[in-house]
Amino acid sequence: MSFELPKLSYSYDALEPHIDAKTMEIHHSKHHAGYTAKLNVALEGTELATQSIESILAGDVSAGIRNNGGGYYNHCLFWSIMSPNGGGQPSGDLANAINTSFGSFEDFKTIFSNAAATQFGSGWAWLCVKERVLSVCSTPNQDNPLMKSGCGSTPILGIDVWEHAYYLNYQNRRPDYIEAFFNVVNWTEVSRRLKNA
Ligand code: MN
Repeated sequence: MSFELPKLSYSYDALEPHIDAKTMEIHHSKHHAGYTAKLNVALEGTELATQSIESILAGDVSAGIRNNGGGYYNHCLFWSIMSPNGGGQPSGDLANAINTSFGSFEDFKTIFSNAAATQFGSGWAWLCVKERVLSVCSTPNQDNPLMKSGCGSTPILGIDVWEHAYYLNYQNRRPDYIEAFFNVVNWTEVSRRLKNA
């Protein structure tokens, strides 16, 4: 068994003007495809090859599996939590959990945006859940909260702050990209991930 690059449920230009088509095309068809192919090579012939990606990442793994497995998992999550019909604010249980954990949606947005803006170099910022409590963290490279180096919680929302995720359109203006990201967040999917966590 090997991991496959997931198809997007929307076209490369569907998130414009917030995320441009060229960035989406290169990010999915080159970067994510590369992580996926290298993960499969790294797993070939090992007993890990039959495990879920979550289970693989939680274990002690080689740098190649950590980097490419993280890259595979993180981007699968990233595509799913964006939508051309996204934006606005969450509702229901997710809205309640955000209010309980952060005070308000605006407070959450500030904390999450700050984590994304201040992650030095390449990495990710996350909204995570552990025992029904939400938290925000950031991780370097393709690490994520599921790993031993992580916070032991389950990511339900993540933003890629590698330059490949925004540089074509935003150059050095990472905060503008983070602000624009909120216009495409698929809160329905984030709610589903909270429910299943
Ligand atoms: Mn990326």
